Amino acid sequence: MKDDGYSKNTWLIHGPSMTSQWDFSHHVVPPLSSSTAYRLESVKRGARGFSQFAESTLESREAPVYIYDRLDEPTRSLLESNLALLEGGEFCLTFASGMAAISAALGSVLSPGDEVLGHTMLYGCTHSLFSNWYPRQGYGVKRVNFNDLKALKSVITEKTRVLYFETPTNPTLELIDIKAVRGLADEFNKDRFFERKLLIIVDNTFATPFCQRPIELGADMVVESLTKNLGGFGTELGGAVIFPKSLRKDILLYRKDFGGILSSKSAWAIMVYGLPTLPLRMKRQQYTAQRVAAFLEGLDEVVEIRYPGLKNFPDRKLAESQMRDFDGDFAPGSMIYFLLDKTKVDPIGFADSIAKNAYSVTLAVSLGHVKTLLELPGFMTHSAYGDAYPDESKYGIRLSIGLESPKDIIKDLKNAIHQSRMATSHIVKGK
Ligand SMILES: *Cc1c(COP(=O)(O)O)cnc(C)c1O
Repeated sequence: MKDDGYSKNTWLIHGPSMTSQWDFSHHVVPPLSSSTAYRLESVKRGARGFSQFAESTLESREAPVYIYDRLDEPTRSLLESNLALLEGGEFCLTFASGMAAISAALGSVLSPGDEVLGHTMLYGCTHSLFSNWYPRQGYGVKRVNFNDLKALKSVITEKTRVLYFETPTNPTLELIDIKAVRGLADEFNKDRFFERKLLIIVDNTFATPFCQRPIELGADMVVESLTKNLGGFGTELGGAVIFPKSLRKDILLYRKDFGGILSSKSAWAIMVYGLPTLPLRMKRQQYTAQRVAAFLEGLDEVVEIRYPGLKNFPDRKLAESQMRDFDGDFAPGSMIYFLLDKTKVDPIGFADSIAKNAYSVTLAVSLGHVKTLLELPGFMTHSAYGDAYPDESKYGIRLSIGLESPKDIIKDLKNAIHQSRMATSHIVKGK
């Protein structure tokens, strides 16, 4: 059996036909291993396992020496080789959550005194990591609009080590041009030693590797939550870092010592249920998102709507070049962001009405789920921003499209808008 020459859509279902990590050729589905420690037939083998840990590159076909789950584990490492291939990177390591992956990716490359430049809008807990913890750990953080390359260029100093952003951003769906940031980083890197080169880290959670592969567009590392569309069913928490060989040893040792590993049981579920169904789920979600976005766009009560699949999406050109699925088709994703006209509809009342009365839309955080989820980031996922959260986004609504019928989602949204109309709205309209 040879796995080369097949599309990623097919590869996701069958995985690698041969792997040095584990021989499971008698299973149609890879077995789930669940053993914290591994029997060692000699002290010599145990010693070799420890001394080789983080040194071997897995290029050899030789089976790795498994010792202890926190160091390395076969079910998890199979998922990791699948994710590395999906993202087009050299290596992948998985973690207990998206935040564990993000803090490990950054923690393994930063030293006190180094500086991270982060885009102004980031996921709430990433914002909190940068603003509450990094100052205490001696890492500098500056926030800048990555869509203003001049501004970005002007804040890069000798101390800058990482350029960090999401595209699309959570929750406002701004896009950032990965190739343009790569070009800028290359200008600075010409004069820097390897250890001081600017590293571009992209959080690919919103798009997933189905819609966008940042490493192919110039990122050095990808971080992402497996809790969202990669896991897909809302049952497992997890995170991943995809990175080049040169960073492997540090990230592997960091994970061993900080200990935020992904459990083999979660890795198995993500690998067996999540990855093979990713293209199918994403395509269906996109189909529905396009219809729901078009419905919202046509409403008087909606003052702003952002979905990369809409012709009027502000970054539409960039979306078309940057967001492509495995077949090269435009892949605008499953996330929608919109603002209601507060003179007509009460956004809090709208979300409460969804919570009380809707059947196909659920008021809940998280995203990339078989169920359609709706939340107000300014009050929930991004509340760590406090007063720093932009006023114009305070009442923004984030909608993660699931697998329900588009008609039903639209019906529930329509009803909630109807029920949360301001008492005066008909007067305003009638005059
Ligand atoms: C959810 C999310 C994370 C964090 O992932 P967890 O698995 O919840 O730790 C990071 N970045 C983005 C963009 C997210 O949406």
